[in-house]
Amino acid sequence: MKEVKRFLMIGAHPDDADIRFGGTAVKLARAGYVVKFVSFCNGNCGHFEMAGAQLAVRRFAETQASREVSGISEYQVFTENNDCELFPTLENRKKMIRLIREFQPDVVLTHRLCDYHADHRATAQLVQDAAYLTQVPMYCADTPIPKKNPVYAYVYDDFTDPRPIRPDAMIPIDDVLDEKCHMLDCHVSQVYEWLAWELGEKFDHTTWSWEKKREFLVKNWGERFVRAANLGRERLIQIYGEAGKNVRYAELFELSPYGSKISADEFQKLMEP
Ligand SMILES: [Zn+2]
Repeated sequence: MKEVKRFLMIGAHPDDADIRFGGTAVKLARAGYVVKFVSFCNGNCGHFEMAGAQLAVRRFAETQASREVSGISEYQVFTENNDCELFPTLENRKKMIRLIREFQPDVVLTHRLCDYHADHRATAQLVQDAAYLTQVPMYCADTPIPKKNPVYAYVYDDFTDPRPIRPDAMIPIDDVLDEKCHMLDCHVSQVYEWLAWELGEKFDHTTWSWEKKREFLVKNWGERFVRAANLGRERLIQIYGEAGKNVRYAELFELSPYGSKISADEFQKLMEP
C-alpha cells in the first residue's frame, strides 16, 4: 500500500495557496494524497470598496468553493486574524505550532521572508519560528509532537533580493491549468474585482464566457508560472528529460533548511503526485 503523503500549504490570504500551489495541489489530491490549504488571515481588506466582516465572510465562502472544485481536503481560514495586521506574536506562534502538529504533514509550504506583503512575511516568519519549536515536547505540551518532522519549503515568488528562489522541485502544470483557473475563478472578489481596480480597468466579468475568463486568469495569474518554468528550465530537463524543454507552466518549490533534512531529488519525489 502506498503511503498517503500529507501537504500543508500555509498562505497569508484566502487565495495565496491557490495561486502558488493550486496546480500541484490538484494533482496531489487526485493521486489520493491529503492536501490542506490555510489562510492565516481572514481576507477582510483585499478589496477597494468592501472590507471588514462583510468581505471576510465573502472570502471565506470563496475558499470553500475553491476547495470543492480542487478536490483538496480542507481550506482553513484563521478568521480572527485581520489582513494587513498580522504579526509574529507569541499567540500566533502557538497557533502555528498547533496547526502543524495537529495536521501531521510530510511537507509544509509557505512564503519566503523576502516577500513584498507584510502579511506574507509575518506568515513566513511564524512558520520558520514554529519549525524547530514543533519538536520541543514541553512547549504547547497539550498538542503532541507527530512522529515525523516535516520538510519545510517555499512556494514560487518573483523576488530577486537577496536572491531568486531556487528551483529544487518543479511540477509541470500545463495539464491542470484549466483546473487551476477554475480554482482562481472562485476568488471573485480578488481575481476580478480587486485586480480590475489595481489595473485601473472597468469590466463586468459576470457577462464573460468561460473562455474569456480563462484567458484573463492565465494572463494575470498564470504568466508568472511561465517565468517559474523558465527559471527552473535546467532542473525541469534534469528531472523530466527532453519533455522538460516543452513545459510551459510549472510550479516551483525551494527546500528550506528547517525541519527534516532531505536532498533536492528526494524533495522532488516527495512533491510528485
Ligand atoms: Zn496574499
